[in-house]
Amino acid sequence: MKICIIGAGPAGLMAAGRALEHGAQVTVYERNDIAGYKLLISGKGRCNLTNAADLPEFITAYSPHGEFLYGAFHQFFRPELLELLKRHGVETVTERGGRIFPVSQKSTDVRDALTSYASQAKMRYGQRVENILHNNGQVTGIQINSKELSADRVIITTGGKSYPGTGSTGDGYAFAEQSGHRVLDLYPALTPLTCSEKWIKNVQGLGLKNVALTIRAANQVISTKFGEMLFTHFGISGPIVLDASRDITTYLRSHGSAPDNWPEPLQANIDLKPALSDTQLQARLQRDFDQEGKKYFVSILKNLLPASLIPVFVELTGIPRDKLGNQINRQERQRLFELLRKLPCTITGLIGFKDAIITSGGVSLQEINPKTMESRLVKGLYFAGEVLDLDAPTGGYNLQAAFSTGWVAGEHASLSV
Ligand SMILES: Cc1cc2nc3c(=O)[nH]c(=O)nc-3n(C[C@H](O)[C@H](O)[C@H](O)COP(=O)(O)OP(=O)(O)OC[C@H]3O[C@@H](n4cnc5c(N)ncnc54)[C@H](O)[C@@H]3O)c2cc1C
Repeated sequence: MKICIIGAGPAGLMAAGRALEHGAQVTVYERNDIAGYKLLISGKGRCNLTNAADLPEFITAYSPHGEFLYGAFHQFFRPELLELLKRHGVETVTERGGRIFPVSQKSTDVRDALTSYASQAKMRYGQRVENILHNNGQVTGIQINSKELSADRVIITTGGKSYPGTGSTGDGYAFAEQSGHRVLDLYPALTPLTCSEKWIKNVQGLGLKNVALTIRAANQVISTKFGEMLFTHFGISGPIVLDASRDITTYLRSHGSAPDNWPEPLQANIDLKPALSDTQLQARLQRDFDQEGKKYFVSILKNLLPASLIPVFVELTGIPRDKLGNQINRQERQRLFELLRKLPCTITGLIGFKDAIITSGGVSLQEINPKTMESRLVKGLYFAGEVLDLDAPTGGYNLQAAFSTGWVAGEHASLSV
């Protein structure tokens, strides 16, 4: 009895390891020459492998599809993951925001632990599976190099279609459709955003800490995030922008708008002083202008802003750079206040799959048994990891979903052999 696994990412390696523990004969097909290419670049090479959040928070993170994961998490969740990694030599540490990393800060250690867990599998590197074979609602094998190979069970762990250079180009979606599954529209998620303002290019490379980003669509707030962000040559990026982009993706999905064909640009505002209330910020400006009354406006701005934003503020407030602090009137002070509170950026698009951390959309969860990851349409066919219609913000949630669903697929594919 044979199990074929397509893709040696975190989901595939976990499925392989678990199936081997049940004594199954496992072959893993991986188109790259190494396992876990995307895992290696995860968390900027440090691999944020899970999160310390409790189960309800986890479920909310995958909203609106989190409930699907109860079945998997009840069988294999964070404690089981950390215990498994420890058995394979990886100790972990919890950092800010509950993000859990290997103590070594090396994603290679996590990848090596997984390949060690799956070490008894036959690894077929450099092999791209072309098709899934099935007959009368039962999986029968795979097609590779135009040859048909038989298998009793097939587990599809081909990932999404973001960062295609890592090997995840979306093959699993085609396999799913060929076997009768519905694949929900695919959107790049956790991605930088493009903006139309010309000044943004002039401040590229500028990072902002402790700012609040609010995004509105049709005058409704669809995202509010607090933390760090970055201006780039095309728009905005950085941790809070990536997480905000997922809210945009969710909004677009719920409105049936294609990822590259927006109904209208979205309005973002950056609050540069979120720690100050309106009254405190007004008082701060008044004090600065009073105390520095004999200084030019442009010099007073140095107390309030990073250097590269000063020309932007001079232009957007329309206050002459050489106006003295004690000459600045109430309307001008109000314009500065508004800009510090709500620096506007017009968001014109998501940067696309090439630079998206994750794919939103995928194999419809309605056709997958959440307790086993088996297809409800084709017996013996399993799906796990990012190929499923599951995605979450940054923080380790996406990898935990891949680990858990992979383990569960391996467990049930082998138990039913
Ligand atoms: C830059 C970056 C950083 C990230 N950082 C984090 C992080 O810190 N924390 C976190 O939780 N998530 C992170 N993610 C997301 C996370 O890496 C993915 O969600 C996760 O790797 C998905 O695992 P998977 O096993 O489903 O798919 P993948 O890791 O994509 O693996 C799929 C594998 O299948 C192979 N494959 C595809 N098609 C075929 C085929 N036809 N035949 C054979 N092989 C095939 C691919 O080559 C690939 O190796 C990051 C993603 C990126 C791009």
